[in-house]
Amino acid sequence: MKPINQTSSQRSMRLATRIYLPRTIGLAMGGICVAAGFLEAQRSDPWIWVALAVNALLWPHIAYFLAKRAAEPRRAERRNLIVDSVMGGFWVVAMQGSLLPSVLLISMLGMNNVAVGGLRFLGFGLGAQLAGAGSGLLLLGWRFQPEASLLVQVCCLPLLIIYPMLIGSVNFRLARKLSRQRNELRSLSETDVLSGLYNRRVFEQRIDLEFGTFKRHGIPIALAIGDIDHFKSINDRYGHGAGDALIRATGQILRSEKRGTDLAARIGGDEFAVLMPVTGSDEAAVLVRRLQDAFARAVACDERLAGTTISFGVAVPRPDMTSRAEWLDLADRALYREKSAKRSRPAQD
Ligand code: GH3
Ligand code: MG
Repeated sequence: MKPINQTSSQRSMRLATRIYLPRTIGLAMGGICVAAGFLEAQRSDPWIWVALAVNALLWPHIAYFLAKRAAEPRRAERRNLIVDSVMGGFWVVAMQGSLLPSVLLISMLGMNNVAVGGLRFLGFGLGAQLAGAGSGLLLLGWRFQPEASLLVQVCCLPLLIIYPMLIGSVNFRLARKLSRQRNELRSLSETDVLSGLYNRRVFEQRIDLEFGTFKRHGIPIALAIGDIDHFKSINDRYGHGAGDALIRATGQILRSEKRGTDLAARIGGDEFAVLMPVTGSDEAAVLVRRLQDAFARAVACDERLAGTTISFGVAVPRPDMTSRAEWLDLADRALYREKSAKRSRPAQD
């Protein structure tokens, strides 16, 4: 997953970076289309050709540089888009309204503006196009020549065909990235960071669901609640770091020892739960034994933790139960019995 501690300036620079390539290609193709319009309108004044070359070839890089240098790149990029629109309006007048290239410029600029800032920004963009057209009228006057020759039509094809595909692919990549980020966020919101298991919220949703299924169809399901014995003393003696490491290790054990259909979660400080669908209490006891053996093997590797145990209480719901709280309570009581039994046994060395 990408780092999420980016500054707001880095985040807002992403728009400028995303736009850079499409603008570079789009303005170059738009330049070809406007140049053909100029030929048809018999524009011979050198300054207007120079202005077109600057707009088509240099402006995308200047725009990127300005956005990169700005304190708020996103705002700077919106300003750049407004400049694109002003220039687009100007070129429409300079081409004497040649219909195909004019409509093409207006629609491509509209697509950019609406993609970046919605209908509101589309409105700003249209205003900017009108302002550009107004300055064109003042500087060049107006002669309306809407017909476009075959040359002009052919010169419009690259912009017409390639640019929408380019924007489509940028949007596709953006949508894919958003979908990945949504999945990552969902996974973060469901995961307990320390143990890597599901968190309590997911466990509660799932136990509700499973209890409902049990009540409707009577399919057996077992719940095991585990709690590390004397965990507090590990914290007290070796510090929270050692306690955290044990919780992490327990998470790993539960993940690797449970079956694919089981759900393991950390539901409290040193408290864990395993939901085992389509499982009776005998089968659940076997799994619990396996978990306890794996736990014993894991703690034996660290002399500070050697001998630490984890207790489990297993419960299957009864048909007369009316809420999952009764089922949880049954598991809690079984856990308590297991802990009491351990305490009443003489310590084994
Ligand atoms: P018992 O055998 O009865 O379970 O006794 P215990 O010492 O394990 O007592 P209990 O389960 O009540 O104590 C849980 C302790 O876990 C209390 C709390 O300080 C500690 N704890 C809770 N969350 C965390 C955590 O995220 N990291 C660490 N290191 N300790 C935690
Ligand atoms: Mg405990």
